[in-house]
Amino acid sequence: MTMVTDLSRLLKRHFGYDAFRPLQREIMEAALVRRDVLAILPTGAGKSLCYQLPALARQGVTLVVSPLIALMKDQVDQLTAAGVAATFLNSTLDPQENRQRLEAIRGGGFKLVYLAPERLLSRDFLSEIRRWNVTALAVDEAHCISEWGHDFRPEYRRLRELRQALPDLPAIALTATATPRVREDILTQLSLREPAVFLASFNRPNLNYLVEPKQDATARIVGFIRERGRDSGIVYAQSRKRSEELAASLRGAGIPAVCYHAGLETAERARNQEAFLRDEIRVVCATVAFGMGINKPDVRFVIHADLPKNLEGYYQETGRAGRDGLPADCMLLFSRGDVVKQQRFLGEITDEDARETARFQLEHMADFAESDACRRTGLLGYFGETWAVDNCGACDNCLAPRESWDATVETQKLLSCAIRVKQAGGSPVGIRHLADILAGSRAEKLLARNHDKLSTYGIGKEHSAAKWAEVARQLVHKGWFAVEGGNYPVVSITTEGNAVLRERQAVSLTRLMTVEKPSARRAGD
Ligand code: ADP
Ligand code: ZN
Repeated sequence: MTMVTDLSRLLKRHFGYDAFRPLQREIMEAALVRRDVLAILPTGAGKSLCYQLPALARQGVTLVVSPLIALMKDQVDQLTAAGVAATFLNSTLDPQENRQRLEAIRGGGFKLVYLAPERLLSRDFLSEIRRWNVTALAVDEAHCISEWGHDFRPEYRRLRELRQALPDLPAIALTATATPRVREDILTQLSLREPAVFLASFNRPNLNYLVEPKQDATARIVGFIRERGRDSGIVYAQSRKRSEELAASLRGAGIPAVCYHAGLETAERARNQEAFLRDEIRVVCATVAFGMGINKPDVRFVIHADLPKNLEGYYQETGRAGRDGLPADCMLLFSRGDVVKQQRFLGEITDEDARETARFQLEHMADFAESDACRRTGLLGYFGETWAVDNCGACDNCLAPRESWDATVETQKLLSCAIRVKQAGGSPVGIRHLADILAGSRAEKLLARNHDKLSTYGIGKEHSAAKWAEVARQLVHKGWFAVEGGNYPVVSITTEGNAVLRERQAVSLTRLMTVEKPSARRAGD
């Protein structure tokens, strides 16, 4: 019997499925000829099967490293129910139970052993593993090994030692999110040799993406949910407090909602989650703590009330909508204020690498939100996927291109202001500083440098500084301004920018996301 039909038979016998999902079979075949494998497949694509089924087809034990204790137990329960000999080792076991399991594993009683990565911290444990007949290693949620990812777990770094201890073991790494940078990191950290890399498309065709300026957020969210009748959905907020407030506001508006965050008692969390799964309530207002391992197929909308920290998170969270393949909406409420708030938190990260990574990720997130290009193209591009479609038909920018406006005067003012600042000497300034000069701000940092004496000071009082800053960022995208530097990014005019100014080029930009508040206008006067 060929290996292929063998796999199909095992698939049917143990899991009851008739066919493989895209890439599953290819991944399994590569693993079974002992190749190292990296599989990047979106959530719900069926990654678990990619190492479970080969485990049944080969001799010995497959070691599975997985970060979530709760998921580990679920998986083992499901496998056991399917007649697969599987077990797990983690901190929830009492010593006696642990001893018994180790005995059974040594005796060859299991095909799959799930392991929490902390286990690898002990040297003794590595020698314990040598006593098992381990024939393959599977690393689930492999992005956890990379500091460049959104969910770095230092314990995952211990996998290097495991790889050194058992150098001939073929490894399969799986993840649902990996930017090209994270991908490289996984390959290096796990020292995968000539790996077979499988990358599925990350496009979720049934998801509709839209970004709106954040203005009267609560009222907007209530309105959005009301329009959707009885559909259920998730509202993500940045803080626990905010998720509680939102849930209360929704209930106040007659929408059955609960909140979910890591600060709640375990029992309450479980109760709220259950109520959502069983459709007893419609909406969960949650922090990012909600979602991992929650499989509700008919989530019809995901709202981000605040800006997520990075596009990995945004992709994961919006990805919880429309698992059933039917259309679902993902709305992000965006304000520059959220970016500034998060930048402030970044300052508190002491590790420089971690801080720079977070800053880089936040910039991409903000660029995505402010962009006038197809959301899908932007999102998939971030994950290294080229999406060559003119109009995706399911994002705000494709469905209703943002109208443009004549920004010739604004562009002239910004570019010449940058030149004036440079001529005045001293250290270069950032975008916000430039915007403050035009808006005629009395900010100390500006007065201290006599920037209120510049000829361009206050020549842009028709807009708020926030608006000027957004226009300036659009000019960065045009390549007329360059921004450099980590902690205090500074702006400079490029050769192309100089040409635009010199030739008095007509400039058209797309409608801005910045909402003008009357108070913001006055601030500059
Ligand atoms: P992932 O880890 O990629 O998010 P899972 O491994 O949890 O996805 O699989 C998602 C669901 O799809 C599970 O319920 C799983 O049993 C199911 N599934 C996996 N492979 C197949 C298949 N070939 N046919 C039908 N269902 C499948
Ligand atoms: Zn689009």
